[in-house]
Amino acid sequence: MSKEYVLAGDVGGTNLRIAAVDAGGSIVHQESVETPQTRIASDIVDAIIRVALSCVANCGMDGRPRAFGLAMATLVNSREGKSLSSPNLPELNGLSVADAISDQVGIKVFLENDATAAAIGENWLGSSKGVANSVFVTLGTGIGGGLILNGRVFRGTDGTAGEIGHICIEPEGQACGCGSRGCVEQYASATAIVRIAHELAEVSDSSLLAGRVDFSSKDVYDAARLGDAVAIETFRRMGRYLGTALAGLVDVLNPELILIGGGPAKAWDLFIDSLKAEIADRAFGPPAKTVRLVRASLGDSAGILGAARVAFDAEGTQ
Ligand SMILES: [Zn+2]
Repeated sequence: MSKEYVLAGDVGGTNLRIAAVDAGGSIVHQESVETPQTRIASDIVDAIIRVALSCVANCGMDGRPRAFGLAMATLVNSREGKSLSSPNLPELNGLSVADAISDQVGIKVFLENDATAAAIGENWLGSSKGVANSVFVTLGTGIGGGLILNGRVFRGTDGTAGEIGHICIEPEGQACGCGSRGCVEQYASATAIVRIAHELAEVSDSSLLAGRVDFSSKDVYDAARLGDAVAIETFRRMGRYLGTALAGLVDVLNPELILIGGGPAKAWDLFIDSLKAEIADRAFGPPAKTVRLVRASLGDSAGILGAARVAFDAEGTQ
């Protein structure tokens, strides 16, 4: 098939996925492997190169991809194509990932933080399509974020902007992987949901979660669906914490839309009322009234589609 296309990748701590994406945002072909766990940077870079070349060979498109957009679960300097810091992929810290891959594959590589890429993907083809000012929040092991302002992605001076998960909501709170304390990701991520449920279940004999040593955020969700008071209270608190952080963003940015994605977003009706109440209580009236909260719609393809958009846009300006 003779059509313009780019390579787009999404590299997380567990899986590494690369796709050929056409200009309309269709994933023409994709391949994925487990992210090497050797903690050696070159093993990850080599794996990306191997899957990328395989993707080009097998995608059925004529010619070479225009560029390669790569979303990574790391703090990224997108201008320099450098991975700066990551609890998930620490072996890449300080590495010029874009250059390392570009030299081998012979295609220009553009690096993007995975949550920022997902924000771009949602703005291209998902829930925030056509919206000029939106905040994207993704809930998982941690909390990621991305900002679309005045119709463009906002990356800040170094390309590190959008780290919503590290907004502090408790000055003396839980220690965070970023080095700070009391970050919202310690109170509203999937990991935090489990911790809060453990704390509440410890002092409750009647909870379905009481006495259980090992459970997941999905177990807390299932218990809440069965009417378990501890599980319901866990999500109420999680919504309150997240709403506290988002109220600040509503005041600072006056967004039209806040999109929430990731696994725990499935518990939407369990946390959204307490989240909205917090925004209504804390933020100024007009922006609090304007902002709409919606679920992200592209699921785990948002990052790869955003990376593809980055590749199309960046290549066009070279
Ligand atoms: Zn933090």
